[in-house]
Amino acid sequence: MDEKIRFLLTLQEYEQRLARVDPERQRSRLRQLEEAARDLPRRLARARQDWLGEERKIAVAEQGLGEREERLRQCLGQQALSPRPETLQALGAQIARLKAEISEGEDAILQQLEICEMKKKDLARLAEETRGPMAALEKDVAAQKALCMESEQVFRALQEKIGAFRKNIVDAEWLQCYDRVKARGIRPPWLVSASDHRCQGCHIRLSPEQEAFFAQNPRSQAFCEQCGRLLYALPTRDEGALEPESMPGPPSS
Ligand SMILES: [Zn+2]
Repeated sequence: MDEKIRFLLTLQEYEQRLARVDPERQRSRLRQLEEAARDLPRRLARARQDWLGEERKIAVAEQGLGEREERLRQCLGQQALSPRPETLQALGAQIARLKAEISEGEDAILQQLEICEMKKKDLARLAEETRGPMAALEKDVAAQKALCMESEQVFRALQEKIGAFRKNIVDAEWLQCYDRVKARGIRPPWLVSASDHRCQGCHIRLSPEQEAFFAQNPRSQAFCEQCGRLLYALPTRDEGALEPESMPGPPSS
């Protein structure tokens, strides 16, 4: 096999790996996890605010009740001291109204206490429920951060290798053909052999014209008429097929 094809196959392997590493996908996963990790404490804080809000309402209601009770005590005192019947009557009406208001206020506070107790239980339940998921999420975030860093390192290392390959080693004409296939958005691999009378990318039989072309030009390139991939002729055994160990090894990173 041609040296340039071997190098191009190695370049292709690097570039396929580069496409699989995809650090942006890892970063986006990290952002999702971080958002979820922020969401749980936010829900807890909201539940806490709800409960505290109810506590404040009760404090206000109790203050109002206290003021009415004080007022009632004053009215009762005046009633005991006042000799005038019309004053007594007016006081009596005021006392009755205050008593009714106090009774309503006490009922309202009782209801409020129930709501408050419910909110407090909600908060405790939520805190209990989120403890496990929160710890798991924090672990996931840490693991994903490590994965992000790793994939960025691998990505950079592959980019460097690919850059060096493209600059120094690959035959310009073959590289152009290969890049044209890539640019058309064809799924990898972009360079495949034409062997067994088939394109080894789409596995469709070559046309008789392409067969004839490769028979006459075993070192030339052609595009598959079906899938558009770049084809090279795989030499038959008697033409000196390449032993597997003389292939370039997989890139190490
Ligand atoms: Zn094909």
